Amino acid sequence: MPFAHRFSIDGLTDKLRIEIPALLNKHKAGIVIRLHVLGDFYSPEYVAFWDEMLATYPELCIFGYTARRVDSDIGKAVYIMNLRYGDRCTIRYSRNQSFETVGQSFAAEESFDGQSFTCPEQTGKLDSCADCGLCWTVEKTVRFLSH
Ligand code: SF4
Repeated sequence: MPFAHRFSIDGLTDKLRIEIPALLNKHKAGIVIRLHVLGDFYSPEYVAFWDEMLATYPELCIFGYTARRVDSDIGKAVYIMNLRYGDRCTIRYSRNQSFETVGQSFAAEESFDGQSFTCPEQTGKLDSCADCGLCWTVEKTVRFLSH
């Protein structure tokens, strides 16, 4: 991650409005987009953008993580989007917490000792998220190992 490239968000959503339908046209069965390898939801309006994309394109699924607090404006918007599109949107909150606490999914650090499963990609059991899918199919907290 220290060598990852950061990009400007100028024009990001305009570009996504073009690229998402283009990908869906190519992949008729649907697509899954992993949001923000670096970065995060930067405003409630940006969350609303993804909400709109999910409403517009029923074959679109998204998953990812956010460092926003569940009770922040952005965190609440994510919470509602997760509820509204429960089968197509899973944004996990990056916190050492269990699903039971607020009925939302979390991504925890290695030190977390609550109910969780360890990311199988990090233990060499699977090659990628595309081979796994646990982050968007299992409500239990995912635990990522420190490096
Ligand atoms: S648990 Fe599975 S879906 Fe989640 S990050 Fe690890 S490999 Fe990807």
